[in-house]
Amino acid sequence: MAARTFPLGGVHPPDQKHLSAAKPVEPAPLPDLLVVPLSQHIGAPARPVVKKGDRVLAGQAIGEAVGFVSVPVHAPTSGKVLRVEPAPHPLGPPQPAVIIEPDGDDRWADDLEPLTDPHGADPDEIRQRIQAAGIVGMGGATFPTHVKLSPPPEVKIDTVILNGVECEPYLTADHRLMLEEPDRILAGLRVILSVFGLDKGYIGIEENKPDAIELLGRKAREQGFAEVVPLAVKYPQGAEKQLIKAITGREVPSGQLPMAVGAVVQNVGTAAAIWDAVSVGRPLVERITTVTGEGVAEPRNLRVRIGTPVRHLIELAGGLRGEPGKLILGGPMMGIAHHDPDVPAVKGTSGVLLLPRDRVRTAPEGPCIRCGRCVDACPMGLAPTTLRTLIAHEMVAEADEWNALDCIECGSCSFVCPAAIPLVQAIRYAKGRVMARRRKGG
Ligand code: SF4
Ligand code: SF4
Repeated sequence: MAARTFPLGGVHPPDQKHLSAAKPVEPAPLPDLLVVPLSQHIGAPARPVVKKGDRVLAGQAIGEAVGFVSVPVHAPTSGKVLRVEPAPHPLGPPQPAVIIEPDGDDRWADDLEPLTDPHGADPDEIRQRIQAAGIVGMGGATFPTHVKLSPPPEVKIDTVILNGVECEPYLTADHRLMLEEPDRILAGLRVILSVFGLDKGYIGIEENKPDAIELLGRKAREQGFAEVVPLAVKYPQGAEKQLIKAITGREVPSGQLPMAVGAVVQNVGTAAAIWDAVSVGRPLVERITTVTGEGVAEPRNLRVRIGTPVRHLIELAGGLRGEPGKLILGGPMMGIAHHDPDVPAVKGTSGVLLLPRDRVRTAPEGPCIRCGRCVDACPMGLAPTTLRTLIAHEMVAEADEWNALDCIECGSCSFVCPAAIPLVQAIRYAKGRVMARRRKGG
């Protein structure tokens, strides 16, 4: 029987996962300085609660949440606060960060007590703990997890899905986590299920990870509260709406969230972080990051403390190979190109991708030849070429009518365009203009 997938669009970029898929996760030694941004999540940035000269312990809060859609930030190791000031940030311009000089002792604070009964705790206690631990979506979206686990009272969640798809080319961090720490993932899933009073959840994994499907599938069957669903290899299978459609057959309506169809999706790394938070009281201060690409000497999967400069990670991967072409934080389809290797790894940094110059697409942008490939590739059923034309003429209301806000910025349209038109950038701009117009009541 053919593996399940989503029905509309999708593409098959070369996955290049062989570069790092067989490399076990190794701890990255601490750098000389950690640069810990106060904004590593969607929502209000954390407010600093330390100042220059303070001594901090690993896991100690150094920034507090500001409101509900916000999470605290914690010291990744023990050391001294050198400065609190704007510093390079993965998402663009410099942003406020706490700069810590590690003392080498890696002494931990015990601010968060383990919950006495992690699987039987009150749902509100679990949500509060998840927020206090600074947990956000670790697949790259970085939406605060406690918010996703707090649907309005009238919404009934009946389906929890863990996302182990990792459909972005090159990245293998989730794959390694599933192979090396399946019990942490399953324990985290059980905690999420308990929040909604459910007794079974799903884990979606693409068929290009048969070892993870076998291992997690076996453990899930043994433990009885999870089912692993093998999925066809097609990008963007790991996008929330596409994952829900493939596993449940339900379609999240235009402009709505997964909870509209009773579903909650969490990344497998997020589930593991939840288990750490409730079982041993450990906040989110590290993650697995794949440092890879044909532009580094030895691609690796590293357990990285938050705030580690990317330059340090590249050195740990043997340094650059060939003439440097492009640095991308994340994968090649949805990652963010960056020019500054001093930018730090943050909670959403699933990968550091180095491409040599000869692998960077440099074809000049040409005129649209109306081939329709972008339309065929779009998993959201949009017309990327039309949206681009509309926004080029500042026809914002029309772009809204053509559902610009449904774009998930997967990059499939740009990937297939023979004219090298930067469609996703144009549509991202269109989304910003549509949202601004809606805010004004237009
Ligand atoms: S980036 Fe947006 S418009 Fe382009 S294929 Fe993806 S969802 Fe469709
Ligand atoms: S894929 Fe490119 S060339 Fe073809 S219709 Fe879309 S925008 Fe035009």
